[in-house]
Amino acid sequence: MRELVVLGTASQVPTRTRNHNGYFLRWDGEGLLFDPGEGTQRQMIHAGVAASRITRICLTHLHGDHCFGLPGVLSRMVLDGVEHPVHLHYPASGDQVVRALLSVSPPGIDLRLHPHAGSGSVAEGLEIRPLKHRVETYGYLLTEPDSRTFLPERLRAAGIEGPDIGRLQREGALGAARLEEMSISQPGQRFAFIMDTAPCPGAEELADGTDLLVTESTFSDDDAGLARQYLHLTAGQAGELAASGRSRMLVLTHFSARYGDDVSHLAEQAQARAPETTVIAAKDLQRVAVPRRRQPEREVSGETTAIGLNHDGSS
Ligand SMILES: [Zn+2]
Repeated sequence: MRELVVLGTASQVPTRTRNHNGYFLRWDGEGLLFDPGEGTQRQMIHAGVAASRITRICLTHLHGDHCFGLPGVLSRMVLDGVEHPVHLHYPASGDQVVRALLSVSPPGIDLRLHPHAGSGSVAEGLEIRPLKHRVETYGYLLTEPDSRTFLPERLRAAGIEGPDIGRLQREGALGAARLEEMSISQPGQRFAFIMDTAPCPGAEELADGTDLLVTESTFSDDDAGLARQYLHLTAGQAGELAASGRSRMLVLTHFSARYGDDVSHLAEQAQARAPETTVIAAKDLQRVAVPRRRQPEREVSGETTAIGLNHDGSS
């Protein structure tokens, strides 16, 4: 089960229909909460997301609209008696603000702090890249390893069956049969989360090859001067990110209150730059399923059926 639950979509100032930021990503057994702004605890109730589902909290930066909801969410987790470890990721330079937020949160959960800097892996399958904002900011990338899908006709022709398929997968070869000839690679899913930033190489790296890309889209292209001044993206720039990364689905959010409820023109501006991408202007409490895994590319030989195997070689 992989799904994004949008808890809030406003930038600096919330509106009557848009709460401050907040995003919950259900990713198999993990529940990742990104950038909980004010009111996130209540938005989770509206969205039907239990606080006990959170296993990891990821902060892009320590501006209030991305973190003032943290004490409330943590208090709720204490109240609910959460026993599993909860990992908190944030920029090391924001340590003082994080400590202040934690100082008003009650103790009682196994909270593990992971301040980060630089670029690279911060947990299994979770990476960061630096963004370009007025304070130190990082975007997140969640990746699933690529896997292989076997071609049954080739396995049959080579006389490989049963536990030998698992051996072939583990060892890369079985007699004369090589894994690459008996199977094709299937790309794992990629999810990226990009908040408050001007266009920058880190954002491009995060967007690259994503199945689902969530980015800020604070300003309309008509207000590009404001975006430049405050180091934010316009909707068109968000679209360019999706296009250069060949993202399959783009979720725009973190809208300036100046546009009111209707941000359809922002979606249009992004879509114009990313015609191949499905573009969504997020609404509060919207649920977005992560698009299904990309299918491996079929070969010309007409082999149209393939079976998926688990890592242990079982079907
Ligand atoms: Zn913000």
